[in-house]
Amino acid sequence: MSARDSGGRTAGDDGRSDGADAEASADPAFDCGDCGRAFHTEDLLVLHRGVRHPNALDAADQEAYREAYAAEEREIRSFRLRALAVLVLLYFGFLFLYVIYAS
Ligand SMILES: [Zn+2]
Repeated sequence: MSARDSGGRTAGDDGRSDGADAEASADPAFDCGDCGRAFHTEDLLVLHRGVRHPNALDAADQEAYREAYAAEEREIRSFRLRALAVLVLLYFGFLFLYVIYAS
């Protein structure tokens, strides 16, 4: 059970009401000190605070936000490269299948 049952969170408190958020809210462990929104990992909380409450961060929080942002950017870049590789493999795979079987 969550420690804060006082109705701190509403469905679309910051404009994001995607389905994955409701699905993943089993037992969030990290609460935002400014708006009360809960997160499952500390990195998500750091990223949220950096985006939504940038004026409430001290120097250590800003550094943590920069590190979390850079790590997230690396993950996104890695995902894009892997997705591109899969698309290229699919494209040439079907191209070779077409050349072999349809000509
Ligand atoms: Zn917040």
